[in-house]
Amino acid sequence: MVRTESRALKLESLDVLIEAVSQRYRAYGPVAKDGEHAFQEIGADSELYLGCAVTMLPAKHVLQPVRMDLYTFKLGDGFEIEEPGLDEKLAIIGISPCDVNAVLALDRVFGGKFVDPYYWRRRENTLIVAANCIEVAEESFCTSWDTGPELYSDYDLLITELTDGYLLEVGSRDGEDIVNGLNLIKATQEDLKEKKSRLDAARAATRKKLPVAPDDLHRLFKEQYNHPIWVPNADVCFSCGNCTFSCPTCFCFDIRDEIMPSRKEGVRNSEWDSCQLLEFAGIAHHANFRRLRIDRFKHRSIHKLSWMKQQYGLTGCVGCGRCVRWCPSWPERRGRITSLADPVEIIADMLEPPEKIEGAERPGGVIV
Ligand code: SF4
Ligand code: SF4
Repeated sequence: MVRTESRALKLESLDVLIEAVSQRYRAYGPVAKDGEHAFQEIGADSELYLGCAVTMLPAKHVLQPVRMDLYTFKLGDGFEIEEPGLDEKLAIIGISPCDVNAVLALDRVFGGKFVDPYYWRRRENTLIVAANCIEVAEESFCTSWDTGPELYSDYDLLITELTDGYLLEVGSRDGEDIVNGLNLIKATQEDLKEKKSRLDAARAATRKKLPVAPDDLHRLFKEQYNHPIWVPNADVCFSCGNCTFSCPTCFCFDIRDEIMPSRKEGVRNSEWDSCQLLEFAGIAHHANFRRLRIDRFKHRSIHKLSWMKQQYGLTGCVGCGRCVRWCPSWPERRGRITSLADPVEIIADMLEPPEKIEGAERPGGVIV
């Protein structure tokens, strides 16, 4: 992304923008699906939902597909490898500020010490058309991390819904190329004021908040590593992996080789994986680093909320609320029925006096 100085335009209807983007890029955006919303491939006539939708999955599958062929291999005169083309131009339209921040976290993971070319080639070819959230979903707590409801940078184009159209801010040369053909007028001071007041109102209306400052989380989890609440919590975890598959910052994948019956050719592919699944940490001789469910439950919580910041400099949670929404286990905590995977509740658990925890007297022998 070649950044340019941001400039603001006025857009009357989203259709012209969607059409202009989808003519040049393979575009994805949030659309209605099965009573929910999902990021899917869209065309010029697609109807996008730009409210703060806790979509079923984030848009990370555009950059890191659920399953992808890395290369095919063949034994001929030598060992031949063929890679699929990765130069397709992609666009994500309507991605929320927290999800853009999650992409920045993935950039650190896949572009740090070890660069993943499959991620980076997609990332470099992807246009980010973000949308500010003029209301925050009830499961979300982006304001606690300052990852939403407003995006300040790292977009090609940024949409904010106004009462009489949309404010369209341009943040890169690729964004400029899209708007140049659209004949749009400059936004007025009134438009910019309305953007500010709408986003201020969204911030003020956000009810869900972290119970401690983000900078205190590393110390908290270190001190409470053996807190007794982990035992009853892990007891009601199904190890289903929903909390990780639905998370925009979770990045783990597995690599497999499929060999054809001729045993002379095959394909190497990668597929999303989850630290919550028993097989994830399995190695030879049936050994497993995290055979106990409590170890997997703790790993996800502490890695996202503490270790990832130590490793990559950005937290592993952006407060989107998807794990809250899609976790199937809702135990009672502190007199309320809550989502087991909810990071806000997991942090609040760490603040509970250990002597108040029921069911923790067992010596941590949680089943697999
Ligand atoms: S941990 Fe939950 S709330 Fe945080 S980014 Fe992942 S899915 Fe969203
Ligand atoms: S915390 Fe919830 S979503 Fe995550 S593995 Fe356990 S039951 Fe599944």
